[in-house]
Amino acid sequence: MSTTEGVATLRAWFTEAQRIVFLTGAGISTESGIPDFRSASGLYSRHTNTNVFDIDEFHRDPRIYYGFAREFYGITRGAEPNAAHRAIAALGWLPGKKVTVVTQNIDDLHQRAGSDPVWCVHGNLEWSRCVRCGHRVKTDDLSETILGGEAPRHSCGGVYKPEVTFFGEMLPEKDFGEAQLAIGQAEVLVVVGSSLVVFPAAGLPMMRRRSCRYAIVNRDPTDQDRSAHLVIHAGAGDVLHAAVPTEQ
Ligand code: NAD
Repeated sequence: MSTTEGVATLRAWFTEAQRIVFLTGAGISTESGIPDFRSASGLYSRHTNTNVFDIDEFHRDPRIYYGFAREFYGITRGAEPNAAHRAIAALGWLPGKKVTVVTQNIDDLHQRAGSDPVWCVHGNLEWSRCVRCGHRVKTDDLSETILGGEAPRHSCGGVYKPEVTFFGEMLPEKDFGEAQLAIGQAEVLVVVGSSLVVFPAAGLPMMRRRSCRYAIVNRDPTDQDRSAHLVIHAGAGDVLHAAVPTEQ
C-alpha cells in the first residue's frame, strides 16, 4: 500500500471511530528538533555511554546522566510541538472523539499542543526529586546547573533525579494503568515514532481488543510491523496532518 493509500485508510478510521489511542515515541518529536535514540542520527549514535538512563549508574555517578542531560535538556526546553502533535490534539477536539495519548516521551510537547489526557509511561522531565530526602522541585529551577553539565543537589547533599523512569525502575503506576485501560477500550490504536523495543511500553499494543484497528506510523520498520493492520513508513508530521479530518 502506498503512503497516500495508507493515509486515506487512517483518515477513514479516524472518521468512523470514537475511541482513538496514540502510543507515541521519540520519533514524533524529531521534527521538533529533539533527536530520538535509535535512528541513524539518534542520540545513541553520538553518545558512547548508553547507560545514561540506568538507575544503578545514576546512583553510582550522576554525572553520567547529567553530562548527557546538558545537551538533551537544552534541546527539549527550546522545542515546540510540530504538525504531528498538533494533528493529534486537533483530532481530540472534534465532537464525539475521545482521543488518548500514551507517550514514552519525556518532553511535554503533546501537553503543550493541547492533548488531554496524556499518559506518560516513562515519566517526564517537568519535575525532579532529591534521591536522599525526596524534596521535589521544578526541573526548570535547576536549569542553570543542568545546562552547566553539573549534577544539581539539594541542601541536604542529595542529588536531584528527574521524574523520568530509568532502566531498572518501576513505571509510573497510574499512567501505565490508565494507558492499559485506554488501549483495552480503543477502536483505533496508532503507534507513532517508536522503534517498539523498550518493554514493557512496547508491549502495550498487545492490550488492544481483537476488533481494534491497529496502525504503525514510523520512518523505519519495527519488529511489530507484521502484527499491524496498516503500516506507514514516513514522517509523522505529514502523515498525521493529512490523516486528521478537519471536520465531521
Ligand atoms: P527510538 O529512538 O527507539 O525510536 C524512534 C523511532 O522513531 C525510530 O524507529 C525512527 O524510525 C522513528 N522516527 C524518527 N523520526 C521520525 C519521524 N519524523 N516520523 C516517524 N517516525 C520517526 O524511540 P522510542 O521507541 O520512543 O524509545 C526510546 C526511549 O527514549 C523512550 O522511552 C523515550 O522516552 C526516550 N526518548 C524520548 C525523547 C523525547 O522525549 N522526545 C527523545 C529521545 C528518547
